[in-house]
Amino acid sequence: MDCSKPGEPHASLDLLPYVANFYRFIQAPILVISGGEPTTHPDFVKICEYFAFAGGIGFTIVSNGTWVFDEGKRKEFEHVIRLPNFVGAQIYTDKRFYRSYEQVKAHKDYFESLKGVVFEDTNMQMGMMDLGRARDYDVAQQIIDEQNHAMNCVNSALIARQSKTIEAFRKSLRMALNRMFCKPLIDVNGNVHMSESWLCPSVGNVKDDYMLTIFKNMQAFKPCMKCRNAQKFRVSTNPQHVLAREVLGIK
Ligand code: SF4
Repeated sequence: MDCSKPGEPHASLDLLPYVANFYRFIQAPILVISGGEPTTHPDFVKICEYFAFAGGIGFTIVSNGTWVFDEGKRKEFEHVIRLPNFVGAQIYTDKRFYRSYEQVKAHKDYFESLKGVVFEDTNMQMGMMDLGRARDYDVAQQIIDEQNHAMNCVNSALIARQSKTIEAFRKSLRMALNRMFCKPLIDVNGNVHMSESWLCPSVGNVKDDYMLTIFKNMQAFKPCMKCRNAQKFRVSTNPQHVLAREVLGIK
């Protein structure tokens, strides 16, 4: 769930029941509360409390850890990680992207003392996507150029659904092992996207559309091919990317 982006309004609490319905409908095991920086949302605690008691939804938090400088925010964070259905949190900082890197890293021991919290300050394990601040940042664009990850909208579930042969279907299932699994994102307005790029089109809105309509749009989804990751994917020789292009009809 995309909590906020710089200059955009925060997600409304009214959206939360619709978000929970969507994740229950697709039987997603875990909901990630991210941003922007989710702890800056004025109702961050209420959002976590909602999902703690929404029933059947584990929630995680991805944060840059800058709340550590504020005693009140520390208490809030220590409260939400004790809530039911809290699965874990990742505190991620990186000297290439965060001015607060050194100061946040100085609190590594504190973060690691919190149950369920993982502190990461090394290069991203997951592929860099052409999203948020990455779209205007040369270093991020260079990382995208150097990596060989497919964009997140291409995943094992999508390829399996659209495979026309049993061979392609079988191979598609192995993609999940390469972290190519479905990660739909809901933005502040309730629009569902197949990945987190700022360019990704919506496949429906959790407030306005039937769940089945959104699900069918996800099943039939074709990548828009607008992001930088897609330009790499189009010419990739990785056998799984080649298969995905064939199944999805991408020339
Ligand atoms: S190809 Fe389009 S839908 Fe897929 S990740 Fe890139 S922008 Fe999003």
